[in-house]
Amino acid sequence: MRNKRTIIISNRLPVRIERRDQELHFIPSEGGLATGLGSVYQQDDNIWVGWPGFVPESEEEKLIIRERLAELNLVPVFLTEEELMGYYEGFSNEVLWPIFHYRLSYAVYNTDNWHIYKQVNQKFADRVQEQDLNEKDEIWVHDYQLMLLPNLIRQRYDRISIGYFQHIPFPPDEVFRSIPWRDELINGLLGADLIAFHTYNDSQHFLNACTHILGLPIHNNCLHVGGRSVFAEVYPMGIDFEKFSQLAHSQAIRTRAQQIREFYMDRKFILCIDRLDYSKGIIERLEAYESLLKEYPEMREKVILYMLVVPSRDTVPQYKMLRDEIDRMVGHINAVYGTNEWIPIAYFYNSFPIEELSALYVAADVCLVTSIRDGMNLVCKEYVASKEETDGVLVLSELAGASKELLEAIQVNPNSIDQIREGLKAALDMPPSEQRRRMKDSIDIVRKFNVRHWVKIFFNRLREIKTFQKQEM
Ligand code: UDP
Repeated sequence: MRNKRTIIISNRLPVRIERRDQELHFIPSEGGLATGLGSVYQQDDNIWVGWPGFVPESEEEKLIIRERLAELNLVPVFLTEEELMGYYEGFSNEVLWPIFHYRLSYAVYNTDNWHIYKQVNQKFADRVQEQDLNEKDEIWVHDYQLMLLPNLIRQRYDRISIGYFQHIPFPPDEVFRSIPWRDELINGLLGADLIAFHTYNDSQHFLNACTHILGLPIHNNCLHVGGRSVFAEVYPMGIDFEKFSQLAHSQAIRTRAQQIREFYMDRKFILCIDRLDYSKGIIERLEAYESLLKEYPEMREKVILYMLVVPSRDTVPQYKMLRDEIDRMVGHINAVYGTNEWIPIAYFYNSFPIEELSALYVAADVCLVTSIRDGMNLVCKEYVASKEETDGVLVLSELAGASKELLEAIQVNPNSIDQIREGLKAALDMPPSEQRRRMKDSIDIVRKFNVRHWVKIFFNRLREIKTFQKQEM
């Protein structure tokens, strides 16, 4: 009898494949999830199943990829361009993403895309079934691209342990109700034994959807589905604290941070790092920064807003419009307020390696996060983890999941330009002693509830639930 195996499943595998000089190159991902789960899928016979982020040109290429990935305990689910358009761009990013971020008017309901979403979830289930599982194994499904998968696996394995984690918010049930296929989505999730979210509100919204939309009875946070107890719970995701802390302490990063500060003439350095997304409040932040320069003219030439926007989904019309609007506003602010000695905003539409991000975190006097909705927001935690030795203040949207943990940040409502401006002003004026006191509390939290801890407590709970279910039978 073989040992118990753990199967991680997510839309993307933690690897990037590039074709260079007629050869395929495999670059492991350094993302937080990959690090947190590294100790799990890289052990024994455990595996991670997902799309490799690459469309092979031939069956031969597929075979090469399959073999190379097998060495890394990774199992690819190959998707065609058409599947990617329907399942990922179409349904995940144009229905689930806007609805789950409370943007009803951005949703595009297309029945063909829904069918492709179902087909692709089925394809993942088929791939999982080929892995020769048994009822003792444990499965952890990640995120909204795979909401139907827990139940597709459950139909084939009655007793197997299935966990699901949603990395983005879960909206109030009346918002979720807008989706024509809402019943199937909830039923999909209910195949899991543990359905987890970043915040208490998200888990409550999900439970409300179960009772108000499907009419299921709940007892506290427990639902009864087909004779099985299913739990909805809260596990806020952490980051790889050690990695960011060690980078921030290294001489190379400190030198680079110093160079950045000198380049910007030691002005007060406000840092913003986001993917291009309408959920991040980038326009609101620019308005607030302009308002700061207008209302507090003494701040001019004393501050710099360093804004890194990582390219994302810019074929989708709303994202393209957002990018154009950012370009326009940055141009406007720099043109109106800039002088021969000072450009108010340093704007980059790019993605930087972790070392450069770390140097920016170390250099920044303020990290400004203005998400209108955000499941968690890891950037603010990475900033905190980089601030053991240098001062700094976090200004954080109260609508980002992280606001439930980082209570010592200056919290603002991102829909109020005045609140963002005043939060920013308070951060810029904060005495070093108060900065240190507040940051210490945040560091303690981010250190303790790091990504490894998150993985550990999730699996512990999944095992506990299995034991409980067995006792119920
Ligand atoms: N990030 C990156 N390269 C960049 C900028 C950001 O790898 O040039 C990373 C950043 O370190 C963080 C992640 O992207 O880990 C963003 O996560 P977050 O939860 O803040 O936002 P999301 O993009 O997942 O909505």
